[in-house]
Amino acid sequence: MILQTTYAGAAFFAGDSIDNTNHQASVIGAVAAAHYIRAVAPAYGIPVVIHTDHCAKDILPWLDGLLDADELYYKEHGEPLFSSHMVDLSEEDVTWNIQITAKYLKRAAAMKQWLEMEIGVTGGMEDTVNHEHVDTSLLYTQSRDIHLIYTNLKQVSPYFSIAASFGNVHGVYKAGYAVLRPHLLRLHQEYVQEKEKTKTCKPVFFVFHGGSGSSAQDYADSIRFGTVKVNLDTDLQWAYLSGVRNYVMGKKDYLATQVGNPEGSDKSNKKYYHPRAWLREAEKSMTARVKDSFRDFNAVNQL
Ligand SMILES: [Zn+2]
Repeated sequence: MILQTTYAGAAFFAGDSIDNTNHQASVIGAVAAAHYIRAVAPAYGIPVVIHTDHCAKDILPWLDGLLDADELYYKEHGEPLFSSHMVDLSEEDVTWNIQITAKYLKRAAAMKQWLEMEIGVTGGMEDTVNHEHVDTSLLYTQSRDIHLIYTNLKQVSPYFSIAASFGNVHGVYKAGYAVLRPHLLRLHQEYVQEKEKTKTCKPVFFVFHGGSGSSAQDYADSIRFGTVKVNLDTDLQWAYLSGVRNYVMGKKDYLATQVGNPEGSDKSNKKYYHPRAWLREAEKSMTARVKDSFRDFNAVNQL
């Protein structure tokens, strides 16, 4: 599985009251999360890809700080602290986007680290990115842009993926806001293969941003056309809340006072309001939702 932290999520993990003027809280939080995952994941027996999310132009110093931590870790362990990062210059001019992305890919390539980049506009809103009011015609990346990125980045390293827009939106909206067109990914693959005469029919690694709220068919199609990563956040946020909400509403007579519940006025409610009780419910409901997604993404181990 892949665990990724956003810029704001990393700061929150460190503690939301830490000053983040120079992005330090977001660096500290992401680095702490990476070390935590490295320490705990072996106990679950689950290999984890540790990734960081959207990094737009104004927060590039965040990515610089993360790469500093990677290089330090690399010196000691022969691998970077994070498996991969994302740089998101999709709001900038395409040439500049590619140029700066290539610069970061060069730094990552020295550690055989993966870099995800974004092109085109993903609609909706996620964390520090807001595209809710953008013209929906901009929500579809052109094949020639994919080809341009492919040829430029390929010269630097093979370890990169492209989050292209094919009508995807961050967050969940009413039906009809944008139409998802996963078949565009197939057209991009054909275009690049034709131009570059590549051996494989799927030369490009795509990332599906804004996966929440999509149909099983859309997931299946985009994965078939070369998507190697699906971002799922909003639906998991909802699943996480659902567990707590159901618990609190179902136990409301045990959560109104510290002492006293329907079983007696002298009964303690400590075991009901203990954070482990209700936070565990959030984890359980989110885990169930993740399991559904693994099935949708054709990522369940075949025994
Ligand atoms: Zn995105």
